[in-house]
Amino acid sequence: MPDNFPMSRTLFISDLHLSAERPDITRAFHALLESQGARCDALYILGDLFDYWLGDDQLDSDPLAREVAAALAAFARDCAPVTLLPGNRDFLLGERFASEAGVRLVTQDALRIDVHGQPVLIAHGDALCTDDVAYQQFRRQVRAPEWRTQFLAAPLDVRMQQAQEARRQSGEHKYQSAADIMDVNREAVAELLRDQSFPPLFIHGHTHRRAHHTHHLEGHICHRWVLASWDDGHAHAIFLEDGEVHSL
Ligand code: MN
Repeated sequence: MPDNFPMSRTLFISDLHLSAERPDITRAFHALLESQGARCDALYILGDLFDYWLGDDQLDSDPLAREVAAALAAFARDCAPVTLLPGNRDFLLGERFASEAGVRLVTQDALRIDVHGQPVLIAHGDALCTDDVAYQQFRRQVRAPEWRTQFLAAPLDVRMQQAQEARRQSGEHKYQSAADIMDVNREAVAELLRDQSFPPLFIHGHTHRRAHHTHHLEGHICHRWVLASWDDGHAHAIFLEDGEVHSL
C-alpha cells in the first residue's frame, strides 16, 4: 500500500434488529453512522438490520423504516457506499428499499469482496446453521420466488398476523440470545470456504456469538470473525483498516 494512501476503514455490522420497541438501538445506529462517516470508505450490513421486514411497502406505514432508509441514503450520498445482505429476519428487503436507502442489495448467501486488495468473504451466516434442520427447511421455503410473490401479494396487516403466528408456533422469542440460536456447523463453514477458494478472511453475523475463529484447511488459514448483535443497546462493528481487523 503506498504511503500516501488515505487512512480509511471498511466497516461491517449485522444483527441490529432495529424496531420501534428499541429506540436505544436506533440511537446507537445513528451515532455509529455519525461517528464513522468521515473515515469510512465502505459500509457492509450483513443482515438483520431490522427485527422484522414484511415487504418494502413497510416504508409506507412504518416511520422507523423510513427513518432508517433516509439515514442510509444520506450516508451513502455523503460518506461511503453501503452494501446490504438480508438476514433471516429481513430476508424480504427488496429493490424498493434498496433504492430509497441508496444501498446495493445482495441476495446471494455469501459474497466475496475486495477490500484494498484483500479478499474478504461476507455472509449473514444463517445458511451455515445446518444442524437446525427445521430452520433450513423454513429457509428454503421462504426463499423460493413463488412463496415470496404469494406472501407479498397479501395486505400488510395479514402478513403481520402470519409472521406473528409463525413466530408463536416456532416458540421463537422476540429477542433471541445466542443460546436460542444454533451455532454454525463447522463442516458447512469448511465447505463454503473451500467453494470460495479459501478467502483469508470471513466475516458473518447471525449467531450472536461474537468471536474470532481460525480455520486451517488444506494448507490455507482462514480467520472467521463473528459479529456481535446489538441487543445490549450498543453499536458493534468490525472494521478493516490498513489490512488489520479491529472490533468496535
Ligand atoms: Mn439472523
